[in-house]
Amino acid sequence: MFEPVIGIEVHAQLKTESKLFCSCSTRFDAAPNSNTCPICLGFPGALPVLNKKALLYGIKTGLALNCEIAEVSGFDRKNYFYPDLSKNYQITQDASPVGVCGYIDVALDGEVRRIRIKRVHLEEDAGKSIHEGGDITGASFSLEDYNRAGVPLLEIVSEPDIRSPKEAYEYLSMLRRILLYLGVSDCKMEEGSLRCDVNISIRAKGSDTFGTLVELKNLNSFRAVERSLEYEVERQSQVVASGEEVIRETRHWDEASQATVSMRRKGRAEDYRYFPEPDLPLLSIGRTWVDEIRATLPELPAARRMRFTEEYGLPEYDASLLTDTQELADYFEAVVREYGQAKIVSNWVMGELSRLMNATGIGIESVKVAPGDLAAMLKMMDKGTISGKIAKTVFEEMFREGKSPETIVKEKGLVQITDEEELAGIVDRVIDENQKVADEVRAGKDKAIGFLVGQVMKMTKGRANPQMVNKLLRQRLTN
Ligand SMILES: [Zn+2]
Repeated sequence: MFEPVIGIEVHAQLKTESKLFCSCSTRFDAAPNSNTCPICLGFPGALPVLNKKALLYGIKTGLALNCEIAEVSGFDRKNYFYPDLSKNYQITQDASPVGVCGYIDVALDGEVRRIRIKRVHLEEDAGKSIHEGGDITGASFSLEDYNRAGVPLLEIVSEPDIRSPKEAYEYLSMLRRILLYLGVSDCKMEEGSLRCDVNISIRAKGSDTFGTLVELKNLNSFRAVERSLEYEVERQSQVVASGEEVIRETRHWDEASQATVSMRRKGRAEDYRYFPEPDLPLLSIGRTWVDEIRATLPELPAARRMRFTEEYGLPEYDASLLTDTQELADYFEAVVREYGQAKIVSNWVMGELSRLMNATGIGIESVKVAPGDLAAMLKMMDKGTISGKIAKTVFEEMFREGKSPETIVKEKGLVQITDEEELAGIVDRVIDENQKVADEVRAGKDKAIGFLVGQVMKMTKGRANPQMVNKLLRQRLTN
């Protein structure tokens, strides 16, 4: 039996207005090369100045990931040539990252696994190459856009603690959730503001040695990470089982064939000739400042999820979905404050509200239903003003129009019929029109009563009180 040993590097673009070492804008959709200056293009003599907010975000993230924050941190030059890197070096943190020795707890199948974080460091992003007429091998020429050059990145490196593709998926989801809660990155994989590289090797289960490392690239979604890892576990296991050796290489995930493809073999680790960045002084990170930043940390997803199970008595599943984003969790809590019964609120938020959000592509931040209006609608249901079935219709209208439930019920005449006399008339008519079914009920076929209830509901357009209809039918057809 083999087990995979997986480590993940995540690059998250920080949500700052300006770049890491200059005042150029970080806007994503600006015209090519419009957000550039002598500093981010690397002109001779241009000097970098550190963006304080990027450092603050780095410390904040380090704290949220349970890292030790460096007292002295600094920047280094990583030297290499590539067209999207006009300076011929990247300013990064090698020797003294802002945070080290952290961890994330990941819940999987009812068990909590602790994934250690090796380091969290700041670095600048490179530009972007656009290969005209194909990929890099088939293109007739390439264009360079340096707008992204110098955008602040936070690199978060895990220890090789991940033991399954599923766990990798959960780790990334939790990390993304934390970054979103902190508000330090918008984590949009489709815009490249969150990217991940994965290392995987396999070894005999229980062994403490490491196998040959394979690096996976071109992972454009967390699902791609999971699937590419599943593929690699299988592939590497077969290689080893057949008595051959896994080759140390970088492999590319091919979405179309759902397979990894060899890209390039790796010799020894590349020598980037790191040296301390001479244009930036070492940073002394004061403990008072760190404590101030710690005090601004929001309640993080794992803590909030646990509180939801304890304070509201919600199942783990509900708590996990509701705390997926801060906005959704806030919305849920706002409804509960007005209405009380948390599980009912949870059912509506995860049920009807999520269904309509998915169907329309509207995010929770743009939902027109005010939490107070959802609470009011639930109270109307409890009072019997509207039936559960009608509530769904009312809610859809609230979602579309943003009106209060009272207004919708009044405008559309949706008040539940609870008048016994009125209902009795309708029930009698339904029995008349469905003699055969009525006889079946009389003969003891209790299930058939559901059909008659359905007919009454149809006739009243769902406005009849179903309990009363049931009672009236039973009075007439059973003894
Ligand atoms: Zn610039």
